[in-house]
Amino acid sequence: MADDISSQTIDNDHRDLNRRGLLFVLSSPSGAGKSTLASMLLEADDEIAMSVSVTTRKKRPGEEHGKDYYFVSDDEFEEMVADHSFLEYATVFGNRYATPTGPVNQSLEAGQDVLFDIDWQGTQQLYQRAGQDVVRVFILPPSLGELRQRLESRNTDAADVIDGRMERAASEISHWDGYDYVLINDDLDACFTKVKQILATERMRRSRQTGLIGFVRDLMAE
Ligand code: ADP
Ligand code: 5GP
Repeated sequence: MADDISSQTIDNDHRDLNRRGLLFVLSSPSGAGKSTLASMLLEADDEIAMSVSVTTRKKRPGEEHGKDYYFVSDDEFEEMVADHSFLEYATVFGNRYATPTGPVNQSLEAGQDVLFDIDWQGTQQLYQRAGQDVVRVFILPPSLGELRQRLESRNTDAADVIDGRMERAASEISHWDGYDYVLINDDLDACFTKVKQILATERMRRSRQTGLIGFVRDLMAE
């Protein structure tokens, strides 16, 4: 699969800014809280923009085309694969999902970091493409009982869909060790604080602060 999308690159070198853009990934078993945390982060931080994925799954009540996902047919998805439009793509719960490359580069060009709600397969591909720019965060529920309760209280899925998500939770959780950070989302506000701390710290990495060389040179010349 990686070969199919090998022509897609992240263009992160043109920013006339003091730091490289970050690709910030949140993954978790369904129901652990990543969408909630992603919304909170987008609300709190102007310097990060959401990557809106393409999917072949059916729209859920309340979802908007272009905001939650770009909803496409199987044929349209295949065409986009053939056109090398995707940075990564994967099949999750029998539906296809992908990250379109163009908007990611546009956000980086506009000086924004990019936030991804993608699964472990997509995270691996993104890391192969742009490892040095990727920060991977995995969200765990405090318990499987609590996970089921959250899926039920979210009120978006029928009982059989929730059973399916619970069955898949264990296999998703098994990929926790492919991430840089792992957080247990017990208390939402505490977990959100940690997400913000990770982002703030990663933005300060020396390798990302491309403006430092000039700054230090000027400092020494004073
Ligand atoms: P995901 O995007 O991982 O599938 P959601 O963000 O949709 O999960 O969260 C699932 C449900 O759990 C939502 O109803 C959300 O409000 C709730 N939730 C998220 N985090 C917590 C938390 N720490 N404590 C209690 N409920 C939470
Ligand atoms: P949902 O259909 O519940 O919105 O998402 C199902 C799963 O697909 C979640 O684990 C979500 O992270 C993952 N997903 C959403 N968009 C993408 C994407 O563009 N690429 C990949 N690889 N996974 C995605």
